[in-house]
Amino acid sequence: MTDAQKYITAVQEKLAQKGAWEQEFLQAVQEFLPTIVPFLEEHPEYIEKDIVSLLVEPERIIQFRVPWQDDEGKRQVNRGYRVQFNSALGPYKGGLRLHPSVNLSILKFLGFEQVFKNSLTDLGIGGGKGGSDFDPKGKSDDEIMRFCQSFMTELARHIGPSLDVPAGDIGVGGREIGFLFGMYKRLQQYDAGVLTGKPLNFGGSLIRTEATGYGLVYFVKHLLADQGTTLKGKKVILSGSGNVSIYAIEKLIELGAIPLTCSDSNGCIYDPAGIDLALLKEIKEVKRERLTSYQAARPEAQYMEGSVWDQDIAADIALPCATQNEINGTQAQNFINHGVKLVAEGANMPSSNEAIALYLANDVYYGPAKAANAGGVAVSALEMSQNAQRLSWSREEVDHRLDDIMENIFLTCRNTAERYGLKNNYVAGANIASFEKVAHAMLLQGLV
Ligand code: NDP
Repeated sequence: MTDAQKYITAVQEKLAQKGAWEQEFLQAVQEFLPTIVPFLEEHPEYIEKDIVSLLVEPERIIQFRVPWQDDEGKRQVNRGYRVQFNSALGPYKGGLRLHPSVNLSILKFLGFEQVFKNSLTDLGIGGGKGGSDFDPKGKSDDEIMRFCQSFMTELARHIGPSLDVPAGDIGVGGREIGFLFGMYKRLQQYDAGVLTGKPLNFGGSLIRTEATGYGLVYFVKHLLADQGTTLKGKKVILSGSGNVSIYAIEKLIELGAIPLTCSDSNGCIYDPAGIDLALLKEIKEVKRERLTSYQAARPEAQYMEGSVWDQDIAADIALPCATQNEINGTQAQNFINHGVKLVAEGANMPSSNEAIALYLANDVYYGPAKAANAGGVAVSALEMSQNAQRLSWSREEVDHRLDDIMENIFLTCRNTAERYGLKNNYVAGANIASFEKVAHAMLLQGLV
């Protein structure tokens, strides 16, 4: 074992001893650290200063109770969190997740990934993440509003446009951001820059809603262009039917690809003629119904219970856009056997470490989440710029900037991988390039 390998092994062991139950967080760290070994070998000063031990500890974690009343007048209480992970490059930035599975392990993994994702955008933002174990499914608009107001009652004292700027994630879209913003305003004062993902009529940016899905497809477009091909005619399997999935499907269709599937936590749709986007938007964004309604309206499509990754569907590209650890090794092998040659992650950490090993062993091009889904946070940073300038850029301008940012991220991953003799290993490229920037800033700030 080299010194760098011994060092990262020791850091990982110490972390596991401190919090063995933080499975998702440990998994994210385990995916990340081995890939930066070539960089640490070239730069022993980062080992001497023990910078990695600092990087795996959040700067601050805030946990609070969120009491609210349901429509029957019954009192409820949930846990709220904000993990302010790293501010070496700028204010903490990262989404809020509302889902019953939310706990500190999940938010620490998301915050850790966010630090490096934000570094790749080159937009001067640090990383954070937050949320609650509140389940928005089946709740009325009024219940969602009361929950968001209570959540913001505590969160407001910890955030600010130059300090920490939350946005959406699973279970948090324009409606929730609107309620959160309304409460922030009542408690502090009007400051458009305190949240991103706002509706357009009070400080939101055009293309923010679409940004993660569009950005994901732009990343794939640039990767394919680098290989001398395009998206035209490519068959794509996707999971999820939320914000990221819907707008990935929209951009795929625009660029001539054929999105074949989408899913929710109960089952999946396979539509051999290509997903009907207008129908999907109507069901998910307007009626907020389950995917069974899609098949009812379009009988030629198939609805299957269970994961989309277990199905027998031939495709060229897989875009997981639902949640963490949705693809295990068996499922990765299944779609590789069905022809998939490229995986790009819209969701955060959707592939288990076993699945990632299979992509690399089978020469499947792999765009890791922190690179491929960075378009959302990138346009959030553009929203912050517009708010600060009191300007609103056109749809074309934001879209063009997003495409450029995704091309730069792709080139950074590709070129960094090549520099370390790891051609086409975009995960190593993404991890090394983003680590270098954050760790260097930490050294310059005298944090060690
Ligand atoms: P949404 O809440 O809009 O949609 C989430 C989708 O994933 C839904 O279809 C949901 O199904 C499904 N899903 C959620 N949890 C599970 C689960 N445990 N098992 C199976 N399916 C599940 O969220 P987003 O589209 O915003 O987020 C999707 C992913 O993208 C997340 O990993 C998020 O962290 C990541 N991401 C989001 C960004 C953004 O800008 N929104 C930015 C970067 C990454 P159901 O309705 O049944 O729950």
